[in-house]
Amino acid sequence: MKKVYLDNAATTALRKEVLSAMLPFLKEKFGNASSLHSWGQEARRAVEEARERVAKVLNCEPFEIIFTGTTTVSDNLAIQGVASALKDKGRHLLTTAIEHHAVLDTFKFLGTQGYKVDFLEVNREGLVDFKELEERLNKETILVSVMLANNEIGTIQPIKEISNLVHKTSPLAVFHSDAATAVEYLDLDVKKLGVDLLTLGSHKFGGPKGLGILYLKSGTAIKPITFGGHHERTLWSGTEDVAGIVGTSVALELAQKEWRANYKRVEKLQKYFIAEVLKMGAVVLTGHPEKRLPDIASFCFENVEGEALLLGLDDEGIGCSTGSACTSGNLEPSHVLLACGISQALAHGSIRFSLARETTKEELDYVLKVLLKILKKLRKISGR
Ligand SMILES: *Cc1c(COP(=O)(O)O)cnc(C)c1O
Repeated sequence: MKKVYLDNAATTALRKEVLSAMLPFLKEKFGNASSLHSWGQEARRAVEEARERVAKVLNCEPFEIIFTGTTTVSDNLAIQGVASALKDKGRHLLTTAIEHHAVLDTFKFLGTQGYKVDFLEVNREGLVDFKELEERLNKETILVSVMLANNEIGTIQPIKEISNLVHKTSPLAVFHSDAATAVEYLDLDVKKLGVDLLTLGSHKFGGPKGLGILYLKSGTAIKPITFGGHHERTLWSGTEDVAGIVGTSVALELAQKEWRANYKRVEKLQKYFIAEVLKMGAVVLTGHPEKRLPDIASFCFENVEGEALLLGLDDEGIGCSTGSACTSGNLEPSHVLLACGISQALAHGSIRFSLARETTKEELDYVLKVLLKILKKLRKISGR
């Protein structure tokens, strides 16, 4: 059967260049980077070279890069770590209603720990409102977190303008952004973004699972949230995953070298695909029509269950997701779609296709053909 994987916002395939870079550290170069002998030094050198590679790509200093367990860990470390370090200066935290659960649930937790947390609303297209942001910022605000691009609907926030406003209005505030979904398609120069903290996760850009990056601007107050062996400037203790770190650095370098070319190529396919899906009728595009990641084509179909559509597509060899891969399996519709003002009923018909760098028009034509067929069948069953 033909197989078409369009769920690259959930995870991407490991790139072959990345696997080759990792293999020696899974085989003969197995040393612990903290050991003093030659095996250990070889591993240490690899970790530090990887850190330099990442720093160069993100336009920062190597000591500003922390390797962690995954994006979720980086988000938790950034948010809990900064909140804890600054709690005597202020207790107000600000984020958006459409963050990934790794951010959203961490803020919700802090809301039970003596912090005051506000969740910014978004408009129908998923954009944060500057007026509301300005109104919510105050002298007590110590941390603001706004994702660079949304993983479900693809909307890209104007992060530089947001960070400018945050820093201008709340002098205490540290600005964090979760950029996990943007790595293959947007420029991640941390100076241009104006962020104090940035989180990335390797498996969203052709790297291995279980490896996160946290950019931590020099001088930013932060405390560890876990304790142990003093690795990664005590911020993420535990023996380093040398192969994972090396693979992540190679994947990041490749992704950021190629982002412009990726953007151009994938955007063209996305535009074609979206136009063709909208022609099918009784369907809306979710997210912003222009300010969106070029790989995400997200829709809500009327009178169809997203789950049924997903399973129908899977039967024909097509992989996609409904609402968000992390929330499917529970019947609540996606918090992102609801925050955009989409009704519960319509949100149940959500489907997200996320293209890969190497997706072809021929693959999309196959998906379009199958999608139309399944839609007709499902709507016939539901009698609508
Ligand atoms: C995937 C994702 C995460 C979580 O990544 P894990 O690898 O599951 O830790 C966090 N934020 C965003 C925006 C994501 O897309």
